[in-house]
Amino acid sequence: MALNDLKAMDMGETEQWAKDLGLDPYRGRQVRHWLFKELAVSFNEMTSLSKSVRSFLSDSACITSCLITQIKISRDGTRKFLFQLEDGALIESVLIPERDHFTVCISSQAGCSMGCRFCLTAKQGLTRNLKAGEIVDQVVQVRRFLKGMTGSPEHLTNVVLMGMGEPLANYEEVVRALRNITGSDALNFSNRRVTLSTSGLVPQMKRLGEEACVNLAVSLNASDDETRNFLMPVNRRYPLKELLDACRAFPLPNRRMLTFEYILISGINDSDEDALKLSKLLSRLRAKINLIPLNPHHGLDMSAPPMERILQFQKILVDKHFTAIIRKSKGQDIGAACGQLRGQWTNNT
Ligand code: SAH
Ligand code: SF4
Repeated sequence: MALNDLKAMDMGETEQWAKDLGLDPYRGRQVRHWLFKELAVSFNEMTSLSKSVRSFLSDSACITSCLITQIKISRDGTRKFLFQLEDGALIESVLIPERDHFTVCISSQAGCSMGCRFCLTAKQGLTRNLKAGEIVDQVVQVRRFLKGMTGSPEHLTNVVLMGMGEPLANYEEVVRALRNITGSDALNFSNRRVTLSTSGLVPQMKRLGEEACVNLAVSLNASDDETRNFLMPVNRRYPLKELLDACRAFPLPNRRMLTFEYILISGINDSDEDALKLSKLLSRLRAKINLIPLNPHHGLDMSAPPMERILQFQKILVDKHFTAIIRKSKGQDIGAACGQLRGQWTNNT
């Protein structure tokens, strides 16, 4: 954690920070109110504090504030934000309108080192892990934007960690960020509405089950080791058996389910046999399946199957009593769909 990064600190740490400065811990609570309820991005906005207190506080702590450098709007209303971080690193977040609420998809790393064959983020490699404050601030900035746009920041109800990066490869900072995303004294998202997606880092999945209480989505994308090794190098480290054992051990509160994401790629993982194998793999799990037709991007030598094939794949799973939903990704025309984020914009991105 950066020294005294207020967006990364929890309530106890913030109160202690105030105390250490010789102030009443109440000042810490006031600052948190401004940061997370009023969505302030600087000490200057904290008008219930006197100017002299504000200037005193600003000498001993920082407020991470990611700079929105560009926003793109899709035909379907999805908005993609390009953020520039303090050291110049670029990341993206996506604001997705649903029927009666908004979801924000945030990044956990600039780039990604996992090397999945179908993913544009993988092509740039890993630039660096994000700090907890940078992860939290994406939500703050997008909520603030929504407040300006609709006057109703509370309509942003869901957070998914499905943007750039592998969240469990940046475990400590991500879990610290989740505390301020879900904490009732901070951004106060219901933990039922926060989902972390992983490519399957088994040891960290076990820790997450013990240390946090958010929804888990696992990017499966194949139903045998050979195909998964080809698509996702992480499978050589944690093959399907280990991954599914970790899924079975993952604590699920009442009525919650694990989500399995399965990208459908023509001729690679979309046959009837693949669907049957998938149903067997997941048979002893409380699982729902998101089928995602592969999103295209430049230089990708794979394609999505025709709709007929996708529907047949889904039917096999539904016949086996799975909830299997076809998820057409939003924001494809602006490169905002799953797997299309790359954190650098040219005019035709
Ligand atoms: N690293 C994490 C979260 C970010 S990736 C993970 O892999 O789960 C978010 C999702 O995008 C994953 O489910 C991944 O399988 C999916 N994805 C990546 N490239 C894609 C593409 N070209 N088309 C469709 N989905 C893609
Ligand atoms: Fe990383 Fe996820 Fe993309 Fe794989 S799919 S390269 S884990 S961001």
